[in-house]
Amino acid sequence: MMQVCNLKKQFNNIMVLDDVNIDFNTKEVTCILGPSGAGKSTFLRCLNLLEEPTAGKILYNGKNTLDEKFDVRQLREDVGMVFQHFNLFPLKSVVENVMLALVLVKKMSKKMAREKALAMLDKVGLSDKADVMPHTLSGGQQQRVAIARALAMEPKMLLFDEPTSALDPELVGDVLAVMRKLANEGMTMIVVTHEMGFAKEVADRILFMADGNVVEDASPDVFFTNP
Ligand code: ADP
Ligand code: ADP
Repeated sequence: MMQVCNLKKQFNNIMVLDDVNIDFNTKEVTCILGPSGAGKSTFLRCLNLLEEPTAGKILYNGKNTLDEKFDVRQLREDVGMVFQHFNLFPLKSVVENVMLALVLVKKMSKKMAREKALAMLDKVGLSDKADVMPHTLSGGQQQRVAIARALAMEPKMLLFDEPTSALDPELVGDVLAVMRKLANEGMTMIVVTHEMGFAKEVADRILFMADGNVVEDASPDVFFTNP
């Protein structure tokens, strides 16, 4: 689905990604682990075309994303992203947050967008919060709204950048439960996380990044039993 070939990303004089080669397959859940500063976040941002590679290329369904004719807009619709900080619009209700892109990007009527948004909120266990304002929710609930917002676009793939790192420990479980459900439904997911339990149970594949490179690519069974 996504092929990364000789990817390099340099900031100033620092090589943050140094020749990464990886293929991501459809319906696979990949967890990316590794120390802070390893380049995990930069790597995800390259996959989503938020960063431009210094060298190398990324193919999406066989098409070169750096090609002038490549449909960046389509990729942005296909590849959803969930960040550490959920960035909900504070002056819009929960359901309006989920509806927004449906109306603006997908050009849905408000009525249809609301229906769809309510269905997505139901999926993340928040249908009873549709008409409240985001600030009245816990961090974990806000992150679930952000996931509902990403799901509303019917993405073919979801990227998560430390989705639970900003949450109080007691709120992490609910967000991971939603992610586990998506994984079980066959969503293609790439998850940068420090949640080892989640990685061990849910991932099909673990990538370990260090110093701008993928230094290990293994199944959880192999990864977590190696000394
Ligand atoms: P990780 O997600 O593994 O913690 P990052 O991808 O966030 O790693 O960062 C890797 C390195 O790249 C860090 O040293 C960081 O300071 C640097 N970096 C990230 N983004 C930028 C940027 N926009 N400009 C300069 N340096 C950056
Ligand atoms: P995280 O690792 O959680 O993604 P960071 O604090 O590393 O968050 O980065 C937050 C933002 O700051 C990102 O957009 C990243 O590109 C940018 N950034 C990180 N390090 C640097 C840096 N050394 N110089 C400039 N921008 C940076």
